[in-house]
Amino acid sequence: MESRIQRVRDAFASGRSRPLRFRLQQLEALRRMVQEREKDILQAIGADLCKSEFNAYSQEVITILGELDLVLENLSEWVTATPAKKNLLTMLDEAYVQPEPLGVVLIIGAWNYPFVLTIQPLIGAIAAGNAVIIKPSELSEKTAQLLAKLLPQYLDQELYAVINGGIPETTELLKQRFDHILYTGNTAVGRIVMEAAAKHLTPVTLELGGKSPCYIDTDCDLDVACRRITWGKYMNCGQTCIAPDYVLCEPSLQHQIVQKIKETVKEFYGENIKESPDYERIINLRHFKRILNLLEGQKIAFGGETDEATRYVAPTILTDVDPEARVMQEEIFGPILPIVPVKDADEAIKFINSREKPLAFYIFSHNDKLVRRMINSTSSGGVTANDVIMHFTLSSLPFGGVGSSGMGAYHGKYSFDTFSHQRPCLLKSLKREGANKLRYPPNSQSKVDWAKFFILKRFNRGKLGLLLLALLGIVAAVLLKARYY
Ligand code: NAD
Repeated sequence: MESRIQRVRDAFASGRSRPLRFRLQQLEALRRMVQEREKDILQAIGADLCKSEFNAYSQEVITILGELDLVLENLSEWVTATPAKKNLLTMLDEAYVQPEPLGVVLIIGAWNYPFVLTIQPLIGAIAAGNAVIIKPSELSEKTAQLLAKLLPQYLDQELYAVINGGIPETTELLKQRFDHILYTGNTAVGRIVMEAAAKHLTPVTLELGGKSPCYIDTDCDLDVACRRITWGKYMNCGQTCIAPDYVLCEPSLQHQIVQKIKETVKEFYGENIKESPDYERIINLRHFKRILNLLEGQKIAFGGETDEATRYVAPTILTDVDPEARVMQEEIFGPILPIVPVKDADEAIKFINSREKPLAFYIFSHNDKLVRRMINSTSSGGVTANDVIMHFTLSSLPFGGVGSSGMGAYHGKYSFDTFSHQRPCLLKSLKREGANKLRYPPNSQSKVDWAKFFILKRFNRGKLGLLLLALLGIVAAVLLKARYY
């Protein structure tokens, strides 16, 4: 393990991951990989999650192709240094911020969207000029194996390495030194990752989970709200980090919500849900049993059927759920939707704020004022109003958690920034030493006065302001020179 990582580190030290042309070549090769090996990718995802090829394409592959297009189109702009504002002291110097690669980055992926959760951060890491160790989740075994086979066929083999394995291998990997770690997975392992990273002072991006609430207001188009919630909750059999975890609504809405979701489930998956190519299965027996336990003692208003042999859990709704119930204590990560009745929006806000900060928050209401009030009175990784999941799809928005749902963010330009160091650069000349005398000892009142003038003086922007600034600079430099030489 150590020698493999050392090889990647040596490759980074060679400097070849840095030139823009090289980064673009690698990203184009990645795009070629996705296009040429699309069938293999869809089959691997399908085998891991019992997912149809259509769904694997629209939930995973399309996101990656969109991200690659965006990065390939904009990278030349992102890598360019940004000029920085100057003050009187640095007026004749050059000041800019230059993004630079961090070094060797570790990406630990999760199983629920095994392709996108591994490749999307990889795109950002390559774009930012890093070398990368990729650790796919061992639970989505077929996708993990395929990535280990395909990536070396398309990408620079020394700079980008896939390491597969389970907990022992990940534990070993985490003992090594990295320059950044991006981990996607549950909060408990997030703590392990952060602890391991702390030993080397390695910065981390933690893409974790949590219980994402969904508030449905009485002033709302319930048909539309329930259709959108049904889609986001039961997609991937509820195994989506930003799926609406539970619903908060006034007691009078409960029955209608159950009815409408029931009708939508029939519309989406047909009479026999088990036969639907659009309905997935629970990843493994451990998670299947965990989800079954969450149903114990609950009032099942819809669904509830399960089949251990195929790890099938029907789309399920629980009503009048007690906030203290087990199903309300941990992230469900399965197709169970508890409805917790609340008196009104204020009680919903209190409820949300009394718990850990969620990864997402959803509000359904015609009332724009209420939507904004709820956003302003709560905190979550992201928000979508009058829909679910969709903020994830907009690469101009940073994607990540807050508090126990994670730290840091990625997607689009945010990925590039996550994997870059924003390096401040000030390029001075060895001339104009007169003005610099000001900061050399011995200090005096007049030097302090001049320093105040140089550093604290503010001028209006615009051409006139700049001209005045230039004139003052020259005058000050002449005066200083006369005084200190
Ligand atoms: P998982 O079991 O695939 O684990 C994720 C990674 O952690 C794997 O690569 C695994 O090898 C590693 N790992 C597991 N146990 C470990 C240990 N003890 N020590 C070191 N490494 C270990 O995925 P999971 O955690 O079951 O994923 C589900 C969770 O991830 C949910 O909470 C979900 O909300 C969250 N999630 C978050 C996002 C996001 O973008 N924020 C996306 C997907 C999933």
